Amino acid sequence: MKILSSKAALQLVIAEIQAHKKSIGFVPTMGALHEGHLALVKTAQKVCDRVVCSIFVNPTQFNNSQDLSSYPQTPERDIALLKEVNCDILFLPESPQEIYPDGVTSMEFDLGNIASVMEGAHRPGHFQGVATVLYHFFNLVQPNRVFMGEKDFQQVAVVRKLIVLMHAPIEVVCVPTQRAASGLALSSRNMRLSAQQQDEAVAIFDAMQYAKSNWQRFSPKSLMQHLIGFFDAIPDAKVEYIAFADADSLEGVLEWSDHQSVRVFVVVWFGDVRLIDNQLLF
Ligand code: AMP
Repeated sequence: MKILSSKAALQLVIAEIQAHKKSIGFVPTMGALHEGHLALVKTAQKVCDRVVCSIFVNPTQFNNSQDLSSYPQTPERDIALLKEVNCDILFLPESPQEIYPDGVTSMEFDLGNIASVMEGAHRPGHFQGVATVLYHFFNLVQPNRVFMGEKDFQQVAVVRKLIVLMHAPIEVVCVPTQRAASGLALSSRNMRLSAQQQDEAVAIFDAMQYAKSNWQRFSPKSLMQHLIGFFDAIPDAKVEYIAFADADSLEGVLEWSDHQSVRVFVVVWFGDVRLIDNQLLF
């Protein structure tokens, strides 16, 4: 695996791949890798000639400085994992300045309604930061396909919109959420949970499964009350929001019958760790 820490080195390698007419798959991550990230790499390897993974804890997408400073970083382990799965290239920028030479700030994209609801409303500036870093990465890596996790479903929608705005010929591939045997979605943030919190956090999966099996019995409003109840008995858990949203527009759902496809979105804090998950209802 080639490990590149400068833009210039990356651009040389990309030019060489393109000269050989090989397709490029791109897996952007913030590191502290787990099987969820590796599933993206493995999916990319099936359909692309070369796979580029990036590890960059992007400052502009954090709306909370405490969250940024406590974000887990395990670079040696990440490199070993990527070598094990035979990733071709790791882009590991040596500093934020490498990506943001004019200062660490977000650009402003017209991302529309999909970026203003749910995570957009609860994490101001988050999606502009995500779009900004991916704008730079897409220009540098020039991938044919980008591989992203369904766990961050709204982020996938935002990236599709960014690609339209950029007029970039990049296909977005959404990879199913990888879960622990308990149902808990794998996340870099899980390593900051105590063993007890890891057990308790399974309530997120249980609530989503309940919603999937029972939505037809309830209105969205009363189902919501049932789902909030899954967390009432857990003193350490604090629901930030639970939402039912149209799977295409991400508009909020007042009546099931107004929508062809609906997903449930859950954000819950366990102690000072913010966990996010979602699932298709129908
Ligand atoms: P992150 O490092 O958390 O920014 O995530 C990098 C990419 O991995 C994003 O596209 C995430 O959606 C994806 N990802 C994170 N966790 C999982 C998971 N459990 N299953 C599948 N993809 C995931």
